[in-house]
Amino acid sequence: MSKVALTVDVRSTPQRRAVLDVIDRATDHPTAAEVLERVNEVLPGVGAATVYRALGRLVDAGQIAEFCFGSSATRYDRNVDHHEHLICDRCGRVEDVVLDLHNSQLLAPLTKRGDFAVTSYDLRVHGVCHDCTITTTENHPHPKEK
Ligand SMILES: [Zn+2]
Ligand SMILES: [Zn+2]
Repeated sequence: MSKVALTVDVRSTPQRRAVLDVIDRATDHPTAAEVLERVNEVLPGVGAATVYRALGRLVDAGQIAEFCFGSSATRYDRNVDHHEHLICDRCGRVEDVVLDLHNSQLLAPLTKRGDFAVTSYDLRVHGVCHDCTITTTENHPHPKEK
């Protein structure tokens, strides 16, 4: 890549708009590879480096959030407000849910301890999603994207 390319502000590029659009429409918290695939469906020929750089800029700008579960690939989230994730153990779908546990019993033991100020928390709830529950007998996963 040339020095010029590195200094280009991707905010206004079609590539960055496409990346943001893909994440806005996604309901499954796509990985960078999945974002790349979907961007190429609307803008063929966009390279991985361009998409990954756009993702980084969007995260820095607070327009999207990134997170990863354990050692799995980083996922991207259009929802930048605090929320929890429901993870389907069958199809891997990651769904948003807001539980607002700051004042719940869950964190009460820490509040009582008094020597640790909770600023945030990260909660994952594992289970089986609705689609997997109803398709269990058919024994095939639901499509990744609607
Ligand atoms: Zn599922
Ligand atoms: Zn989320």
